[in-house]
Amino acid sequence: MFKDIFEKYDWDEVQKKIYQSTSADVENALSANKRDLNDFIAMISPAAAPYLEQMAMMSKELTQKRFGKTIQMYAPMYLSNECQNICTYCGFSLENKIKRKTLSDSEILLEAKALKTAGFDHILLVTGEANSTVDSYYFLNAVKILKPHFANISLEVQPLNTDEYLKLHLAGIHSVLVYQETYHRKIYKEYHPKGKKSNFDFRLDTPDRIGEAGIHKLGVGVLLGLEDWRTDSFFNALHLEYLQKTYWQTQFSVSFPRLRPAEGIMEPKFVMSDRELAQLIFAYRLWNQDLELSLSTRENEKFRDNMISLGITTMSAGSKTNPGGYAVDIESLEQFETSDERSAIEIAAVIANVGYQPIWKNWDKIYS
Ligand code: SF4
Repeated sequence: MFKDIFEKYDWDEVQKKIYQSTSADVENALSANKRDLNDFIAMISPAAAPYLEQMAMMSKELTQKRFGKTIQMYAPMYLSNECQNICTYCGFSLENKIKRKTLSDSEILLEAKALKTAGFDHILLVTGEANSTVDSYYFLNAVKILKPHFANISLEVQPLNTDEYLKLHLAGIHSVLVYQETYHRKIYKEYHPKGKKSNFDFRLDTPDRIGEAGIHKLGVGVLLGLEDWRTDSFFNALHLEYLQKTYWQTQFSVSFPRLRPAEGIMEPKFVMSDRELAQLIFAYRLWNQDLELSLSTRENEKFRDNMISLGITTMSAGSKTNPGGYAVDIESLEQFETSDERSAIEIAAVIANVGYQPIWKNWDKIYS
């Protein structure tokens, strides 16, 4: 299990190493034929900031070589905002007095119709973590309803056990995303004081359970803004390195959620600039050429447009982060405010304008 490796590292020591990196470390990393985690440390350090343009060009070339000039398109479908956890940064947190909603079968179909009409064939099902209402039976039923309509269904829901992931895999789930939020054990507890999510170790073990169940693709990431993004990103990369070695038949993706405003929540404690986010994206690409790198509509139009050709492989578009947000209950409370509010068609046109191809379907059910 990854926990055995994780326990060998000390947060403060890792942080010190990152901040002590020099320009010579960065230059060594950039000129290496094969880059390891030490190179990743140099590339995410403050010392790498002056090398941003060089990193961007290298990232662009490597991404084109591995993925071609393509961007995969997907949309999140929020099925429920019910949640039994307190996460101090989230609009769906248990203590927030908002109207709770979980979509019924007919409402799921209405949302599906709206997303199909917008052109999507890849959807990401998202729920809060309410163990008794949105459990594995609810997800299996949702997949059964949606499978005839979409080529690719991903899941971002509460951590489950291996048997439950296996059932979802057999039902046709293509990928599962789970974010550790922060790898700082003590700070994690402060952000997650109540509910099942407050169990740091259970969450840390989740990618292992997903890997064991044989899910095709596993998505990981941290919530950028909860703690020092550089140190958290090192631990995320360490986790990925372990997962890739252990579950070598699985594909992997990294997402870059930066903390966004939401109803009743705090401001980010650690602010990450656009240049820093770009540096992180390039560092991942230079470290690992096979990773899918995903950017959501949390990010603003200009940043997303600039990133299309520089390392990103996957983008959401026209997203609603409230259950029923596309057709059923347009006004319900969002989990967080999106920043890029353009429609999927508009974003596809921007992608095409820079010479890239928006991919609406990259998987067919005959493979599953
Ligand atoms: S982040 Fe997830 S688990 Fe935490 S309150 Fe929001 S929906 Fe619930």
